[in-house]
Amino acid sequence: MGKSDAKPHLPNWPRGYHRPEKVFAYLQKWAAEYPGLVQLDTLATTHENRPVYAVRVSDHCTDSDLSKPEVLYVGATHGCEPLSVEVSLRLIAFLLSHASDPQVRDLLQTRSLWFVPVFNPDGLHQYYQGNFIWKANRKRNKGHRFKFRHGVDLNRNFGYEWGCDEEGSRSTPGWFGFGSYRGPAPFSEPESQGMRDFVSKRRFSVSFSFHSFGEKYLYPYNYGADPADLAWYQAFTGHLGKKNGYSAGNPVSGEIYKSNGDMDDWLYGDHSGGKGKTLAMTVEIGKLYLLPWGNPEKQFKKNVYGSLLLALIAGEPALVLDSGHLKVMGEKVEAMLKGKLGAED
Ligand SMILES: [Zn+2]
Repeated sequence: MGKSDAKPHLPNWPRGYHRPEKVFAYLQKWAAEYPGLVQLDTLATTHENRPVYAVRVSDHCTDSDLSKPEVLYVGATHGCEPLSVEVSLRLIAFLLSHASDPQVRDLLQTRSLWFVPVFNPDGLHQYYQGNFIWKANRKRNKGHRFKFRHGVDLNRNFGYEWGCDEEGSRSTPGWFGFGSYRGPAPFSEPESQGMRDFVSKRRFSVSFSFHSFGEKYLYPYNYGADPADLAWYQAFTGHLGKKNGYSAGNPVSGEIYKSNGDMDDWLYGDHSGGKGKTLAMTVEIGKLYLLPWGNPEKQFKKNVYGSLLLALIAGEPALVLDSGHLKVMGEKVEAMLKGKLGAED
């Protein structure tokens, strides 16, 4: 297949990079065009008055429906990681473009796939304003009148082992949205509150938080301990790594530095108020820190297999530990992708 006729069957395919407003426009358009497949919810309104959208992609989805196994994908927890948004957006577009294909239809009929493609829209906006290291949100920090010391790192603001040491997060705001400031209290931010309340109402058995960069799968506990499900995490991320070359680990294995108040640790470790355990992972997309002229298509292709397999295993994650079963599910995903990714770059 030549360049010119790549993806002729994808009328809604997003190209290039997208500012928050452009992402929102896509989500609204898709919700209007595919009312039976796309449901748009607002989790929160940010300090700068932007919406945090959650999008469900599923066949015949209704708000109260908890009967289908659920999977969560999150992008742009950190503002300066636009590839995390682009991969999320393309995953949604892929599902919608192929919704009538038998394998994809089967997935949409049996799973609820939830996306929060821009968890931190104010941070992403800062990035596109040219603040290329801005990770945090845009909270006005008391005692810091300079706007370049605004912001709380949302991935240090969750209420599990929040602020347990000064190495994995900081008690003071950083410069230019950098520096891992955890905020004045757990869940002090509208974005993290919105995510907490949303997740607590749902039943996510598995999740991916997309970040960039490093080509890694990371799993709990990021504050610095091994999870009870270490064997599960090793089996699943090891399988995915064989496909796309990503490495895998946690701070105990030395794969990544420590962080506390991180979303994955909360998703996995907190079981208060009837909240279930989510087998949460972070996906660090891309080899390098990419200013917005890297190739989002290429990064999507590297991550689509793992992301769809995640949805498939959401029904019964324990089956991952059965290597024969994992292989069969992997073949299902390969069948889902066959001939649908257009020309190889
Ligand atoms: Zn990040």
